[in-house]
Amino acid sequence: MKPSEIDLHKELKKYFGFNQFKGLQEGVVKSIITGNNSFVIMPTGGGKSLCYQLPALVLDGTAIVVSPLIALMKNQVDAIRSLSSEYGVAHVLNSSLTKTEVNQVKKDITSGLTKLLYVAPESLTKEEYIEFLQSVPISFVAIDEAHCISEWGHDFRPEYRNLRTIIKQLGDIPVIGLTATATPKVQEDILKNLDMTDANTFKASFNRPNLFYEVRTKTKNIEGDIIRFIKQHKGKSGVIYCLSRKKVEEIAQVLQVNGISAVPYHAGLDAKTRAKHQDMFLMEDVDVVVATIAFGMGIDKPDVRFVIHHDIPKSLESYYQETGRAGRDGGEGHCLAYYSYKDIEKLEKFMAGKPVAEQEIGFALLQEVVAYAETSMSRRKFLLHYFGEEFDDVNGEGADMDDNVRNPKKKAEAQDQVVTLLQTVRDTNEMYKSKEVIFTLIGKINATIKAHKTDAQKFFGKGKDHEEKYWMALIRQVLVDGLLSKDIESYGVLKLTQKGLDFIKKPYSFMMSEDHEYSEADDEAIVT
Ligand code: ADP
Repeated sequence: MKPSEIDLHKELKKYFGFNQFKGLQEGVVKSIITGNNSFVIMPTGGGKSLCYQLPALVLDGTAIVVSPLIALMKNQVDAIRSLSSEYGVAHVLNSSLTKTEVNQVKKDITSGLTKLLYVAPESLTKEEYIEFLQSVPISFVAIDEAHCISEWGHDFRPEYRNLRTIIKQLGDIPVIGLTATATPKVQEDILKNLDMTDANTFKASFNRPNLFYEVRTKTKNIEGDIIRFIKQHKGKSGVIYCLSRKKVEEIAQVLQVNGISAVPYHAGLDAKTRAKHQDMFLMEDVDVVVATIAFGMGIDKPDVRFVIHHDIPKSLESYYQETGRAGRDGGEGHCLAYYSYKDIEKLEKFMAGKPVAEQEIGFALLQEVVAYAETSMSRRKFLLHYFGEEFDDVNGEGADMDDNVRNPKKKAEAQDQVVTLLQTVRDTNEMYKSKEVIFTLIGKINATIKAHKTDAQKFFGKGKDHEEKYWMALIRQVLVDGLLSKDIESYGVLKLTQKGLDFIKKPYSFMMSEDHEYSEADDEAIVT
């Protein structure tokens, strides 16, 4: 059958039992079955799997699905087998298979029975597999978790970098990349690395209107604060994320002692205990799971009502993914993060010893976390801006769902200061990151400023009637407003946008609110 003759709604119903496509699915499916490279960016739970599973089932040949995690592959294969009467409709090909099993997989593919073949990227480098795959019809290659290809993603995997070369060896086959990570930089990396800048791109909104975002100062009394919070949400399911296993154990115990049903979950527990704790949470025998991030991968409880970050995560992508586990059923989901700058320094220390480029990226990602935590603007607007999405913080869906919007800080007119800031970026030839721009404004010297003789310029110190903190806050707000942009290749050099240039020429009112003051957070709070 020609792709254009396929009745997609009928096939959707037949295989999946759904009456309708969800979000952008239909467009994606059409794009794939007509042989186009496609790029799908949808938040977790958006329904990405169906985007390639349905085309794979209706097209001739076998679709190769590259996925980084064996456990995820296994789940997916089981799910597809349950949709079809043929066990061989989906297979995994990896090094754990016996010779006999590999032969069976090959036989099923050759006979046309297998529609989806899941492989780990490292399996695809095996000469034997490539030779075989060259000899059978392949409908397309789907690359799940495509952000693993980018060093700017939260889960970089070097093996992903070889995928394009391998796929080319298989012939001129359409490629579909899928990810739930949406920063513009990661997207660009994916398209470039997969050599598919021509791809049809489908990007769903990352707004989660039912989630409430809140950041609190991390003090010595954090445990009492968490207990109070949980008691206010009595009987509801929640997850608490901590950085270390030790902290997970500690917090779980403190909660238990205080009459809250909680269990720990981390990689240090044996598989049986972990499974037991996860089941207890899913079956609602306990209300709270205290976990390291590793836990996040498996949990799929739709009615998680709160996600607490005892420790701030290392990137906003991680934060978005982790908070995304709240309110998956569309109901309330409170996302509370505890923040102290000391925690950031701790994360920075973890990065010491890593390759320099990796450290630079790590620092740049952390700076975004700091900016998010310290900002006094709409947190939703900030997060969505980070993902390349503009959000209307007055009328947008969920606009009032964060602490900053509910309790706004006083705003002050900053039109003149914005002009001064933009002029300073211009006058320093758009070569400085925030730090040096601010130093130039307040007239502070460091080695970089000296090297460029900026301190000899007449605009040096032009903004010294305001403090460093004020300018930092203003830069953040101006960035989100699009008057400046941050050049990612150079790890954060500030550049003027067209909108910024227009502002200098014709300034207008710019109301800014001062950032939160978190510097008083207590040291001891983060000693583990
Ligand atoms: P993602 O991979 O983007 O996280 P999934 O593929 O796991 O999302 O899908 C999330 C949920 O949405 C699953 O429970 C899936 O069965 C459901 N789903 C997907 N497509 C549809 C649809 N067209 N109609 C109803 N439910 C759907």
